[in-house]
Amino acid sequence: MNTLFAANWKMHKTRAEANQTARDLVRLVSALPAGREALLIPPFTAIDATLHGLGGASGFQVGAQDFYPAAHGAFTGEVSPAMLLDAGARWALTGHSERRHVIGESDAFVGQKTAFGLAQGLGVILCVGETMEERKAGQLKDVLIRQMEQGLQNVPQDISPERLCLAYEPVWAIGTGLVAGPEEILEAHALVRRLLEGILGSGARSVRILYGGSVKPDNASEIIALDNVEGVLVGGASLKADDFSRIVLA
Ligand code: PEP
Repeated sequence: MNTLFAANWKMHKTRAEANQTARDLVRLVSALPAGREALLIPPFTAIDATLHGLGGASGFQVGAQDFYPAAHGAFTGEVSPAMLLDAGARWALTGHSERRHVIGESDAFVGQKTAFGLAQGLGVILCVGETMEERKAGQLKDVLIRQMEQGLQNVPQDISPERLCLAYEPVWAIGTGLVAGPEEILEAHALVRRLLEGILGSGARSVRILYGGSVKPDNASEIIALDNVEGVLVGGASLKADDFSRIVLA
């Protein structure tokens, strides 16, 4: 399966800015190296503008940062998976640490979203990861077990591995400039891989596991070379086409 380079633009970029960044990226990358694909994840309002900026460039897709686990209804402010698919998004994030820790989403709610998004036809990137306090308290394994068991509850065992990704994102490495070291990434990703197979069965062997947390042009190649790392989820360094193109080409 292709290595996935995902750009989480968070609450940044107007439609014009998103369109320009996507255009610049396509120009700078020119052709994606074999075996790689890229996913741009703008705010909802810029999904369409980002798609237009990509102009159908091969290997590039657009995703969304969130959705609500219902088809429609009285959920003011929310959007459904079908609305995202209609807007041209093919993937969505669930369980991002900012949704867990800033907005207050529970493990159970993240699980509802993951199963619903998949059932509705979106590809889903389920994000998991420990805080520094949890790591210091020796709770990495417990946190990953809890987030993955609940995050993947109701995901069918026969889910196509192409439509589900896990992203290991240690909370202490997100937006802080602190990157997990190779040993820390190897340990966590091996654990995520074992848990994935335990929960979803051997079919999950080829589900991609992305690393996220202060990935930059100068550390990306070392990270994607590690065992059980099949892509990266990039926040800050994905906002400028120049930086993200260097990551995609690393
Ligand atoms: C993220 O938002 O998922 C992320 C990893 O951010 P950053 O790259 O800025 O640490």
